Amino acid sequence: MSIKAEYIWTDGTQPTAKLRSKTKILPDGADTAALPEWGFDGSSTNQADGHASDLVLRPVFTCPDPIRGGAHLLVLCEVDHVDGTPHPSNTRAALRAVAEEHADQEALFGIEQEYTFFEGARPLGFPEGGFPAPQGGYYCGVGADEVFGREIVEKHLDHCLAAGLGVSGINAEVMPGQWEFQIGPLSPLEVSDHMWVARWLLFRTAEEFGVSATLDPKPAKGDWNGAGAHTNFSTRAMREGYDAIITACDALGAEGKPLEHVRAYGAGVQERLTGAHETAPWDEYTYGVSHRGASVRIPWQVERDKKGYIEDRRPNANVDPYVVTRLMVDTCCTALAK
Ligand code: ADP
Ligand code: MN
Ligand code: MN
Ligand code: MN
Ligand code: MN
Repeated sequence: MSIKAEYIWTDGTQPTAKLRSKTKILPDGADTAALPEWGFDGSSTNQADGHASDLVLRPVFTCPDPIRGGAHLLVLCEVDHVDGTPHPSNTRAALRAVAEEHADQEALFGIEQEYTFFEGARPLGFPEGGFPAPQGGYYCGVGADEVFGREIVEKHLDHCLAAGLGVSGINAEVMPGQWEFQIGPLSPLEVSDHMWVARWLLFRTAEEFGVSATLDPKPAKGDWNGAGAHTNFSTRAMREGYDAIITACDALGAEGKPLEHVRAYGAGVQERLTGAHETAPWDEYTYGVSHRGASVRIPWQVERDKKGYIEDRRPNANVDPYVVTRLMVDTCCTALAK
């Protein structure tokens, strides 16, 4: 039987890349361990001009397609120019180099992806022409008055598990229609590849319910939490001792680093990091134990056990995981190597 391979890539839309995908029918008996490169029209994805529009899809991560089932596949790709060099939108290529450079430190990441369902112009659960009861009861809530979209969330979780992605949990968030899933702990490339495929599965699953999911960092104006992508990070040394935890926290606060990081943590990050709604102001770097108003939190068990991981709370929901993991490995592992 022919195999349908869904080739998935990130495009050149600014300031936030969008996911794109198209289907390739593999001939009978095709070697699915060595999938062919493919091409696409970069002039339709903000990745090229019309006069030189051909770009290359190079498969880098493959998993079962839980939506089509059977032997069908999801195929995440890097985008290259026809001469084989990475396209500027290919942020994975830069992470590959940095991850390789510091591979000996065995970095692990767990990323908490917050997102919001929309039905038409309104977050799912927002009444027509008005607002729901204020924040308070929705986070990890239960019951039809507090929880909106659970059937989509459960289906998405099942799809992620069937695809073999490293999903580690889900929860309802502080605003109606807002949810979170976590990927990890995994290596920098794995957590990022799994995150992009999990995002694709989220949009694809919600599509079947006539609902859209958005990674918009401020999906509702007013007194509602934004949507982030808290990025939990450790190296082997951090998993073994507290000095390395403090070294990593200090490295993220070194001269020039807070701004370099925040600038790359997703479009609109300054609007989300206001200092209210469980955030630290974007222009003030702080870290602290159990502190949800700090830029970086050291979980309480980590202080108790004197080892573990740290949580960078600044990345927006719309952050590129290839970018946030590259910056954290570069900044923290360079300091830890000294
Ligand atoms: P919270 O909502 O309390 O901030 P979550 O439970 O949503 O925390 O997410 C914690 C994340 O930390 C999970 O994704 C998990 O995979 C990740 N994590 C746990 N241990 C480590 C570790 N040693 N290194 C990196 N990430 C870790
Ligand atoms: Mn065509
Ligand atoms: Mn969480
Ligand atoms: Mn959360
Ligand atoms: Mn968190």
